[in-house]
Amino acid sequence: MKIIVLDLEWNQSSTGNEPETEKIPFEIIEIGAVGLSDDYRMIREFSEFVKPQVYKKMHSYTSKLIHIQMSQLETGDPFPEVSKKFFDWCGEDYIFCTWGSSDLTELQRNLAYYDLPLLGNAPVKYIDAQKLFSLVYENGSKNRKALESAVDQLDIEKDIPFHRAFSDAYYTAKIFERIAKERPDVLQYVSYDISYPPASHDDEINVDFGTYVKYISSTFEDKESALKDEKVSSMVCYKCGKVLKKKLNWFTTNDRHYYALANCDKHGILKGKVRIQRTGDGKVFVVKTSKLVSKETAAEIRSKYNKVKQKNKQSD
Ligand SMILES: [Zn+2]
Repeated sequence: MKIIVLDLEWNQSSTGNEPETEKIPFEIIEIGAVGLSDDYRMIREFSEFVKPQVYKKMHSYTSKLIHIQMSQLETGDPFPEVSKKFFDWCGEDYIFCTWGSSDLTELQRNLAYYDLPLLGNAPVKYIDAQKLFSLVYENGSKNRKALESAVDQLDIEKDIPFHRAFSDAYYTAKIFERIAKERPDVLQYVSYDISYPPASHDDEINVDFGTYVKYISSTFEDKESALKDEKVSSMVCYKCGKVLKKKLNWFTTNDRHYYALANCDKHGILKGKVRIQRTGDGKVFVVKTSKLVSKETAAEIRSKYNKVKQKNKQSD
């Protein structure tokens, strides 16, 4: 499968209360991409301005960051045309690679705004180079590095300016090439864009990454029915398939993230984590990960639980 490294620039409402703000909070104004060869070298380029249809004034943040004038954008085509050109350029059978998760979210939202076809069946699989960077060079830290700091850290030559769609795709591609060559083992850690939930049970995601498993459910009417669902609430050891008895039942720290612990006699302590996602039409779906963890991690989960219990007691 071909890899296409993608970066977008977008503009936003200057007033924050225009009627379209909710539907399209970020309007894409530039699409940049590079296509990679089988050995992860850049072999082709895409770069186009998008003529704004929604926000005709540049937000101060956008103009400070990306140095594009409205007059330059006016030379581009509207989004439906540019996105068509872009997908024609992408061709068939590819996977996107981006720096972070927001480019795919905003691309999906802009496509939806113009009633254009979305990026295939949701959730869309992609490569998050920022996540891979933190796995390889930051011990898997949850802190995500800015693109330029990552470029500095890897001593990659800064030969073109940052914060334009093409250049950011170019640097993301350089970082990705480095990761793919130094640590091909991490390439299996793909991401899923969850702007839209799986449409049916058949579209649900079940992946075994070896070191953890991930499940993305289809939708439920509400959070309560999601949490009652057996596939969501059960704790199953992904090494032996055994249904485990919970040692610490599901609890929440913020009404969005839920945790549980269980014990497999053969394989050790299993940590469950459930994140509740809301859909545009008021339903919910669930992203659940299960991971065999150390005693220290289990202790951290227990201390989270104790904190929650303490807080609930105080508010009683
Ligand atoms: Zn087991």
